[in-house]
Amino acid sequence: MSLPPVPAATPSPFWWRQSTGDGVHLAFTSVEAGNLARHVGPQHDVESHRLRLQEAMGVPAGSLRFLDQVHSAQVLDADDVAPTVAPPPDGGATTVPTGDAWVCSDGSVPLAIMVADCLPVLLVGQRDRDDPRTAAVTAAAHAGRPGLLAGVLENTVTAMRDRGAVAITAWIGPGACGSCYEIPDEMLAEYATVRPALASTTSWGTSAMDLRAEAEQVLAQAGVTLAPLAGCTLEDASLFSHRRAPGQGRFAGLIWMDPLAPPHR
Ligand SMILES: [Zn+2]
Repeated sequence: MSLPPVPAATPSPFWWRQSTGDGVHLAFTSVEAGNLARHVGPQHDVESHRLRLQEAMGVPAGSLRFLDQVHSAQVLDADDVAPTVAPPPDGGATTVPTGDAWVCSDGSVPLAIMVADCLPVLLVGQRDRDDPRTAAVTAAAHAGRPGLLAGVLENTVTAMRDRGAVAITAWIGPGACGSCYEIPDEMLAEYATVRPALASTTSWGTSAMDLRAEAEQVLAQAGVTLAPLAGCTLEDASLFSHRRAPGQGRFAGLIWMDPLAPPHR
């Protein structure tokens, strides 16, 4: 007697997903979610991938905010920015805010940050150390080499503190790791003295850059608690990597929150 076939598992759009006790959800998408960047793949595909992703997250279509990322240290306040809408059918331009980090003062806006080798950093700030049920300050940052050097993470932490965060935890998502991210010798020499945490060596013995070590150092110095997480886009084919496979796509770091329960009457 033959056994009945085992149904194939549905591939998850999430490479990693976690929820905190206070109703905040954090995730990084996998290649199964498809390319999410308008500047990389066919526009129609990107819009359908974004819609499917929002459905998987359980958030209203069109509520997830994306940025036009430019490797800057610019932090935007999600409360001040209108939702990113799909391009009109006539192909006209849409306005997408430019910057490399989002902060939301009460966690109510679902935030996305896109990467493929740079680090996606998700942050949750508690307003009250003793009461995790109060609305959290949430943030998402794009931390590649230029952004890290320009201070994108320092600016993000400052923006969170300005909005009342007293205890901040960060999840540094997958990027090109310090054993894979090969750079020219001159670049390493330039950073070795000013940013020693960036200096690394590839597993094959050449000059390399360790974005994660640098990000960890910056966040620790800013008093942020680091949640354990690892992952390398060059080694893991379930993530998009610009260096390994240029032009294939961008994945996203996501942070969103359950709507707060209405006050008891
Ligand atoms: Zn690696």
